[in-house]
Amino acid sequence: MSANPFFDGLVGVSVLVAVAVVCVSAAWGTGGRLRIRRLIAGTGDLRRSEARFRSLVQHASDVITVIDARGEVGYQSPSTSAVFGYEPDEIEGRIRTDLIHDGDIARASAAGAELMRKPGTTLSVEGRVRCRTGGWRHVEAIATNLLHDPSVQGLVVNTRDITERKQLEEALTFRAFHDPLTNLPNRALFADRLAHALRRATRRGDSIAVLFLDLDEFKNISDSLGHGRGDELLAAVGARLLNSMRDTDTVARLGGDEFAVLIEDAEDAAGAASVARRVLAALETALRVGEQQVPVRASMGIALSPKAGTTAEELLRAADVAMYAAKANGGGSFEFFEPSMQAALLERMDLENDLGDAVDRNQLFLEYQPIVSLGQEAIRGTEALVRWRHPKHGVLPPGRFIGLAEDRGFMGAIGTWVLRTACAQASEWHRRFPRSAAPRMVVNLSTTQLEHPGLVEDVELALLESGLDPERLVLELTESVVLENETAIAKLGKLREWGVLVSIDDFGTGYSSLSYLRRLPLDILKIDRSFIDGLDRVTHQSAIVEAILVMCSRLGIEPVAEGVEREAEAIELRRLHCGLAQGFYFERPIAPEKIAELLALPAGAIDLGAPGAAAARLPS
Ligand code: C2E
Ligand code: CA
Ligand code: CA
Repeated sequence: MSANPFFDGLVGVSVLVAVAVVCVSAAWGTGGRLRIRRLIAGTGDLRRSEARFRSLVQHASDVITVIDARGEVGYQSPSTSAVFGYEPDEIEGRIRTDLIHDGDIARASAAGAELMRKPGTTLSVEGRVRCRTGGWRHVEAIATNLLHDPSVQGLVVNTRDITERKQLEEALTFRAFHDPLTNLPNRALFADRLAHALRRATRRGDSIAVLFLDLDEFKNISDSLGHGRGDELLAAVGARLLNSMRDTDTVARLGGDEFAVLIEDAEDAAGAASVARRVLAALETALRVGEQQVPVRASMGIALSPKAGTTAEELLRAADVAMYAAKANGGGSFEFFEPSMQAALLERMDLENDLGDAVDRNQLFLEYQPIVSLGQEAIRGTEALVRWRHPKHGVLPPGRFIGLAEDRGFMGAIGTWVLRTACAQASEWHRRFPRSAAPRMVVNLSTTQLEHPGLVEDVELALLESGLDPERLVLELTESVVLENETAIAKLGKLREWGVLVSIDDFGTGYSSLSYLRRLPLDILKIDRSFIDGLDRVTHQSAIVEAILVMCSRLGIEPVAEGVEREAEAIELRRLHCGLAQGFYFERPIAPEKIAELLALPAGAIDLGAPGAAAARLPS
């Protein structure tokens, strides 16, 4: 077995093409439409295998087309009727450009021309084909130039219907940039629009305004409304905000009860202030939630460019800081950002100075979160998550310092420390608990780490000095890091040759072009938390997760569901046959000693089916 499922997939495709070529020559022999030279005449064996090939191609679900040197379709396989609804003889002859989508014709003919020039090569192109019922199907065509091959003398095109995959891509991309509760743009899309607006404003010398809005007392209101009503309230707030803005403004939900508004042509502070007043007034007219009328209040911070910042990140942060000032003043109002509000930013600088020495001063430590098999209730892996014990600010989560470490060039040293520590830890567990199915160790890699030239050596060193079996190490990266980065792909390929596994983190949070999944050296895919949240309540959500799981199984990728917080979500995942999961419902990230205690329990003694149950069984 090859260790790379994608590779197997590719071999599968090329075998299909090869089979197609042979069968096509056999089929031509019978059809007699094109001149055909039989390779070898004769023996019974050969006739039998020809018959087998013929039957294969006649029954293949992919559509096989052979185009001759004049650019005409010489052969079309019968499967075309099942896939597109046409009989082969409707397709044979002059190429039916009327069946190809206008937007794809130029690309398809350019690919055809390129292929004609290069005998022996194969290339693939995607496009839309009109089927008999009038609808469009998305297809992927893999074409090989066999004009020079006397037994074929044509371009062999293997066309496959990928409509389902395209639909999944569209759904994923929409979900990646929209909040499922309100369908408003999410933080990622807001940041993107903000960055564009800033570029335009800078060119024209205009100003833009960012309004950062946070509901007052949301937790209390939602607790008193009862289960599920909090979500309804947030959705109603989203709708109300959208209604009170112009079409040209962007309203987004950033998360929780935080919303943001982008006003592109904010002439001055007075203009932004009047929008802010209008929004706050709109919210104070009670919202309908179930049977109740609920008035809400909000606090708002306003940041105007270029005064409060010149990048999307600076402006959002400034508006956030100003929102806190509004909240501190009692809420229900707004504040403009003032440089004096920058205490929060100063803290960042403080951290910046200390971060450089954190490794040397032994201030970093790792916690490990179990990854469990759904159904078997066993720990299959642990994810190493770094924390920083800051002498003044206490224990800081990675979200507070990883970005900073990346910016300031400290990530290399931190990453190497994490890798070595985690490998040593995993190796120690394997020695102490040889009976337990050795759990994998998942280590996160950031962008800069992957780009670092010494990465492969770092991993090699960590494996050598710990003695950890490479197949027990999983390197986890976000998809944006790996996409389009050939050097990174080559590095990962090298590591995979040793047996190290590669996992994609936070899947579904970026632009989704799923065809890359087949090209990437990839073993595991982590379905982002945002898809798991509400899985059991939102049917649409469950359909997407199911589609991701189906895709994983086709590509031979192991899926892991991330951020499982509630029993109902775990049950739904089990129903969808998702094998592995991770989340607070099973266990939070915990100290290595606690993991060791879990691994020491006899098989079957860990009850991971109830919240916090694993930890509850441990002596505290
Ligand atoms: P991640 O890789 O997506 O890690 C999972 C994060 O989700 C962890 O947060 C974990 O505590 C949290 N989590 C786990 N289960 C649940 C759940 O059921 N609900 C919720 N709401 N959250 C859950 P943490 O430890 O704060 O880490 C945040 C991020 O920091 C990680 O996200 C990862 O991207 C990064 N990170 C952590 N350690 C390292 C490291 O050693 N190196 C690098 N490069 N990045 C790291
Ligand atoms: Ca991770
Ligand atoms: Ca993740």
